[in-house]
Amino acid sequence: MSFNQHTPCVILPGIGQSKVELTDAEGNKIKMAWPLDVDGEDILESLKMPLAKMMLFRRDAGFSDKVKKVISEIADPIATLSDGSMKNTLRVVSYPRSLAECEADEKRYIYKMVPLQMLSERIGEENLFFFSYNSFGDTYEIAEELSSFIDMVKEKTGSDKVNLVPVSLGGALSTAYFQLFRHKKDVKRVMYFVAALGGSHLIADIMEKNIIPENGVSMIEMLMDRKTADSVSGFLKLLPDGVFETTINKVLDALNETVLGNSMSMWGIIPPERYPALAKQYLSDEKHKALREKADRFYEFRLHFPETVRELEEEGVEFFAICGYGLQLLALAGSDKMSSDGIIHISSTSMGAKSAPLGETLGESSDEGRHCRNDAHCHISPDKTIDASFGLWPETTWYFASQRHDDTAYNDKALGIAARVLSDDSFKDIYSDPDFPQFGQAHDNRK
Ligand SMILES: [Zn+2]
Repeated sequence: MSFNQHTPCVILPGIGQSKVELTDAEGNKIKMAWPLDVDGEDILESLKMPLAKMMLFRRDAGFSDKVKKVISEIADPIATLSDGSMKNTLRVVSYPRSLAECEADEKRYIYKMVPLQMLSERIGEENLFFFSYNSFGDTYEIAEELSSFIDMVKEKTGSDKVNLVPVSLGGALSTAYFQLFRHKKDVKRVMYFVAALGGSHLIADIMEKNIIPENGVSMIEMLMDRKTADSVSGFLKLLPDGVFETTINKVLDALNETVLGNSMSMWGIIPPERYPALAKQYLSDEKHKALREKADRFYEFRLHFPETVRELEEEGVEFFAICGYGLQLLALAGSDKMSSDGIIHISSTSMGAKSAPLGETLGESSDEGRHCRNDAHCHISPDKTIDASFGLWPETTWYFASQRHDDTAYNDKALGIAARVLSDDSFKDIYSDPDFPQFGQAHDNRK
C-alpha cells in the first residue's frame, strides 16, 4: 500500500441521486425503479376518458379515484410493504470502487449528482467514493451496507478513517451509521451538505396531508419530470370546483399508501417533534409492528443525537455543515413561514439555528439553548434572520441566503468550503479563511 496523505471521502447522496433498477426474479433489469420512469403520454391516455366524463358532468365522476390509481401505479416500482420491506425485487446501481476506477459514464453521473471536482483535484479521485442506496429502504440495513462499503474504502486506500459527506437524505443515513457503528471509530470528519439532520417538514406535511391545494402542482413537479408535470398541471387547471382539492388529497393518499407510510427511510426524516403523532396515525396496528419498532428505535436515537455528537467530538470526530436559508418550503400550509432552502428547513440542516419567520427579523433571544457562549462572536446573519449560535456547530456551519437545496451543489463557495474541510486539516472553522465567512449568498456557477 502506497503512502496516502489524504483521508478518503465517502459521499452519502440525497434522495434522487442513487439509481435503482426493477428486476425480475432472475435479476434481469426490467426498467428503472428510481428515479421514477414515467411515460407522460401513457398517463394522459389513461386519464382521457375519466377526464372527459368529469368535464361533461362538471363533477368528479370517478376522476380523482382514477388519478389516485395512476399515481399508485407510477410509484409501484418503489412501493413498500407494511413491514417496511420493498414490494418488488430491486437492485441499486452501485460503485464499489473509487472514482479513479469508475468508468467514464459512471464518473460523469457521479459528478453530475455531486460536482466535487474541486475536492478530487485536491485529494485525488482515488480517494473519492460514492455510496449509492435505495432512498426508500430500511435505514438500518443501508447503514450495514455502508459499514461494509467503508471497510472496502479503508482496505483499498490503506486509511483507517474516512470522511463522510452526507447530502440531504444522506444526513439521516449518517445518523444511523453512528448509532450502529460508532464503536468502529472510523469517521474523522463529517461534512454535512444541506443534510436533513432534524428531518423534513415537507415529508411530514405530505404524510399529514397538511397542504395548500393551490400549491399541489409544485408537488407534482417535485415528483415527475418537467414535461409530465406540465401536462398534468395543464389538466388540473381545467377541473371543476372542488375536484382539484379532492384529487390532490387522493394523490397524497396514493403516495402515503404506496411508498411513504411504509418506508423506514422516510420515517427517519420525520422531524422528531412530529413523529409521535404521525407514527400513532400510521403505524399503530399489528401489521406495522416490525416497522414501528425500528422507526421508534431510530426516533429515540435522533432525539438525543446532539448529546451523541458531543461524545463523538470528545473522541475526535469533527463536524461541519453547509445550509441554505431564507426560502419558503415547497407547497406547504403549516410550515410555509419556515426559513428553508426550499426543501429542508434551516433548523434541520444546521441542527438548531434560530431563524425568524419569513418576512420578519429576529427579536431578542435568551441564552437558553445557545451553543456559542463567546461574547466576542457574532453569529447573526447580515439580514438579521438567522442566529447561528443556536446551531449545534456555531463555529463550523456555513449559511447561504436564498440558496436552493439542489442548487447548493453548484454554489462554488459551498463547494470550496467542502473541498477545504475534506482535504486540509488546518482548515478548522468559519475563521480559518476570510474567503469563507459564516454567511454567504446563493450562487449558481452554471449561470
Ligand atoms: Zn461562536
